[in-house]
Amino acid sequence: MTPLEDAQAFVLESCPLREPVTVPREQAGGLVLAAAVVSTEIVPPFDNTAVDGYAVRSTDVASVPVELVVVGEIAAGAAPDRPVGEGEAIRIMTGAPMPPGADAVVMVEYSERLGTDDGGTERVRLNESVSAGAAIRRAGDDVVIGEELFVEGTQITPAIEGVLASVNAQQVEVYPRLKVAVLSTGDELITDGSPLAPGQIRESNKTMLAGMLAEAGCEVVDLGVVRDDEEELERVLRSAATEVDAIVSSGGVSMGDYDVVKAVLGRIADMTWMQMSIKPAKPFAFGKLDGVPVFGLPGNPVSSMVSFELMARPALRRMMGHTQLARPSVVAIADHELRRNPDGKVHFMRVNGQFADDGRFHIAPVQAQGSHQLAATANADAMAVVPDGNGVDVGQEVAVLLLRCPGSRVVS
Ligand code: AMP
Ligand code: MG
Repeated sequence: MTPLEDAQAFVLESCPLREPVTVPREQAGGLVLAAAVVSTEIVPPFDNTAVDGYAVRSTDVASVPVELVVVGEIAAGAAPDRPVGEGEAIRIMTGAPMPPGADAVVMVEYSERLGTDDGGTERVRLNESVSAGAAIRRAGDDVVIGEELFVEGTQITPAIEGVLASVNAQQVEVYPRLKVAVLSTGDELITDGSPLAPGQIRESNKTMLAGMLAEAGCEVVDLGVVRDDEEELERVLRSAATEVDAIVSSGGVSMGDYDVVKAVLGRIADMTWMQMSIKPAKPFAFGKLDGVPVFGLPGNPVSSMVSFELMARPALRRMMGHTQLARPSVVAIADHELRRNPDGKVHFMRVNGQFADDGRFHIAPVQAQGSHQLAATANADAMAVVPDGNGVDVGQEVAVLLLRCPGSRVVS
């Protein structure tokens, strides 16, 4: 049996980074920067007010209350058309540029409008002293020209997209999104919603894997269900290899007579067939078809999921430039025993967990741990990594991989 770490290392080694591409910012969300982003613009572009209020000379409001002559108004988006002189104020709105002469802003909350007199002079009473610089956002205090904003290897989040827009970065150099084909194999699989004939089951893996690929940031090419027919499978795989960056298949990689994936890929691709020392997901195949990485995942739905998580996802992420390849791992406390028998394998038991008042992550297994019982696994947030032996007792520590951020199911 192949240890997980050896198999992972072998697969990662065979899945190098793709060549970087330059893409419009609008298409860069979720991708990984292939070069640092250096700003060519300054943010904010000019000194502006952080509050609605009155732009003043701070010396004029050294003792308050004080009455000043209002000589103008500047809204956000407008440019000042005159300076603020001694004894004067300009009404100013958040984000508007500071007028020359003024060196501070008094918040509108500390002002009283006194109206306009017969001579047309408008006055305001200010009740708050402010020092020079008060409520002014300085040009460049967020970003300066030449600043390295994001280093290579950073995944572009929505906030980063916002920053890129704010510095007018129209294009970015990224590792390309992978186009990944997914297929299921098996004569028993039905996708069209029709009543099940004897021996038939409804397809689940391709549906699940397509979602997992999308979650990993890949573009998914759905190749459908391929019958256990060598000719058909060969045709589908060969054609996929001409148009995608990787292929993920489920089923047909174990020892059965109809394991056509094994038969076909064994003939047309350069594959390594593994019996991994893990449970579930013991059978796994990896190789290249015309240079395209092929992940042969097992057919049992839970095995398929675990195999994708442990083998395919890290490799596909690496190809897209990610450096954090594995799911986050924490040491958890078992609130319920995790029973297993010694068999030379590491068991990935599906669990649910939460951070408790003691600050520790506490877990309990989902009820059904069979490799066909996807419904129970679908309710799990994490996988406990249970080493060979008799399992984990209540209160013992165990490492878990977080499949989701705990608590993320509810928006609070
Ligand atoms: P295989 O690896 O092809 O021998 O399949 C192992 C088990 O997983 C069998 O019980 C299959 O019926 C089941 N299976 C294979 N592929 C799928 C799929 N796409 N959806 C649901 N079950 C599947
Ligand atoms: Mg099969």
